[in-house]
Amino acid sequence: MLLLTALVLSLTASPQDDPRAEIVNLRRYTHPNFTRVVIDIGKLREYTFGELRDPGRIYIDVLQAKLNPILQGQSYPVKAGYISQIRVSQKTTSTVRLVVDVDFSRIQSYRVYHLFDPYRLVVDIYPHGASPAPAQAQVPAGKPPRPGDKVQSAVKRQVDPNDPNLNGTSLARQLGLGVRTVVIDPGHGGPRPGSIGKSGLQEKEVNLAIALALRKLLRDAGIDAILTRESDVDVGLDDRTVIANQKRADLFVSIHANAHRDRKRGGVETFFLNISPDPSVIELAAAENATSTKNIGEMKSILEKIVQNNKIQESYDLASAIQKNLVKALARDLPAVQNLGVKGGPFWVLIGGEMPSVLVEVSHLSNAKEEARLKTAKYRDLAARGIYDGIMEYIHSLGKG
Ligand SMILES: [Zn+2]
Repeated sequence: MLLLTALVLSLTASPQDDPRAEIVNLRRYTHPNFTRVVIDIGKLREYTFGELRDPGRIYIDVLQAKLNPILQGQSYPVKAGYISQIRVSQKTTSTVRLVVDVDFSRIQSYRVYHLFDPYRLVVDIYPHGASPAPAQAQVPAGKPPRPGDKVQSAVKRQVDPNDPNLNGTSLARQLGLGVRTVVIDPGHGGPRPGSIGKSGLQEKEVNLAIALALRKLLRDAGIDAILTRESDVDVGLDDRTVIANQKRADLFVSIHANAHRDRKRGGVETFFLNISPDPSVIELAAAENATSTKNIGEMKSILEKIVQNNKIQESYDLASAIQKNLVKALARDLPAVQNLGVKGGPFWVLIGGEMPSVLVEVSHLSNAKEEARLKTAKYRDLAARGIYDGIMEYIHSLGKG
């Protein structure tokens, strides 16, 4: 799989436009009251974080990032009784992991957050007996989660599926249960065309064609595949996940085609529900969210719902499998198709689902070359095939979890 990822990267990116942000620096300071670790990233990147036990550690995964070889496998001792060392490594081709080895019995709380100009991630760790940390967004360390303690819950759920101590993944994964029902959501419809290409091709039509082809592939494989719309009608964003919940779907896949004001930009990206610091993701989400009756003033509640969503890790895994297979399939017809990666984004349509949920942007309608491809049955079938392959890879991974 590593070889494949490397191959895809080499097909889509020359060294000078490697989409990964290079991490070249890690800093740490021990103050009387707390220890601060800073990773300098420079470019906006998604990250997740969580706790692992035996031995105790706090980890942060920076997505779409690569480690400068100088830092690979480095560890840094810390002169504080509650932290033994800090380590950093390239966890996968596109993920850099920072680990802080801590003694949870000796720390009171910690915070993981980002700062801008330049973009950097910060971890502050407060030992017992220190002055209290700033009240917002701190995570009480080593205590059982309390009902309503949203920050704690969110962090708890950012688990590493490969860690034997995991306690946050779904029952389905732990028991290796199969996926029976997939709800496929063709974006937009009826009076809402979604994005429109220069030649007039409407996103709603592309989305539906791919969704119908995907339904056939899934049904042929014995999976119950249900569409949120089967014709050119509009369905409210909230209603789409209501359908998925009513059908007790195991997975929710929303299909879209991208538009970007830079008409040269092209490629494929897959989203899971998360907060994003990336302005272009926020712009895309605003466009996709426009059919919702919600307004921007409700951003606060979307953030709370994201924090409550307990399927972030699984949605990320599903998005990764779909993204990889979709790029691979489309490259058969469009060899230079760009792999824009897996990202978090605040998409309304992903909020209500009680199952792992992703939104796929299969290509750009705003890019003339991709629009021409999106008109063809061949490219649509390849997109459906790629998404199907990704879903099947994810399902097979459940048995091994
Ligand atoms: Zn759309």
